[in-house]
Amino acid sequence: MQKTIISVRDLVKNYGSFQAVQSISFDVYEGEIFGLLGPNGAGKSTTLEIIETLREKTSGKVFVDGIDLDKQPAEIKKNIGVQLQTSGFYPSLNLVELIRLFGGLYNKSVDPLALLKKVNLEDKALNKSKELSGGQKQRFSIATTLINQPKIIFLDEPTTGLDPQARRNLWDLIREIRLAGTTVIITTHYMDEAEQLCDRIAIMDQGKIIKLDSPDKMIDELVAGGFERPKQVKAANLEDVFIHLTGREMRDE
Ligand code: ADP
Ligand code: MG
Repeated sequence: MQKTIISVRDLVKNYGSFQAVQSISFDVYEGEIFGLLGPNGAGKSTTLEIIETLREKTSGKVFVDGIDLDKQPAEIKKNIGVQLQTSGFYPSLNLVELIRLFGGLYNKSVDPLALLKKVNLEDKALNKSKELSGGQKQRFSIATTLINQPKIIFLDEPTTGLDPQARRNLWDLIREIRLAGTTVIITTHYMDEAEQLCDRIAIMDQGKIIKLDSPDKMIDELVAGGFERPKQVKAANLEDVFIHLTGREMRDE
């Protein structure tokens, strides 16, 4: 039996008369990578930010590691890692200084170099965040989620806008974080990303969860229902060609 670490019940969020999240319920299990998959505007970020205590809900209940969001939001905040927007980082500070600053905000002492090593950025320790490439910025932003040694990290579209190498590199990093025991909840609108990375996904559309299961089960169910792809699928796609030609190693160092 899996242990539930996040429990969302009948969550509703209205912006004025617009219903962005329409009574959704789901559980996230400890140690899994859970995906919220859906098109732009589906309500993924709204849902995530409510759980992160960054946005007010209209109604419903949220429990994070047994803590009631309505009663102890500050306790929840202590136990979770939220991705900070790199655009908000102080431009004149280098990565080590930024990590020390954030560590101070959480009242945690951190070893900046060890943390940077975890996300493969030890060479950039003395660089400023504006000097990082897109993939490096995302890796640094993921590093900042780990500063308070959280049980759960929240990643909102961490790979949007990245090239194929940087995306794969980030997937590896997310898998490593999970292997170390951290639960990951991630939003994405990339189907391949959800399929490759997530143990279970909730497909969201127009504020509702229309399906929740493992990617494997969803695909098997569709095929069992008689679905067939219109034509023979090739054994590789253009992305495979691209990765094969350019290699998997990072370009943006
Ligand atoms: P997603 O992350 O899936 O793209 P969002 O949660 O950002 O979706 O947004 C869901 C819907 O709520 C969208 O239609 C969006 O325009 C709307 N929305 C988001 N934030 C606000 C806000 N602060 N005020 C009004 N509408 C908002
Ligand atoms: Mg979003």
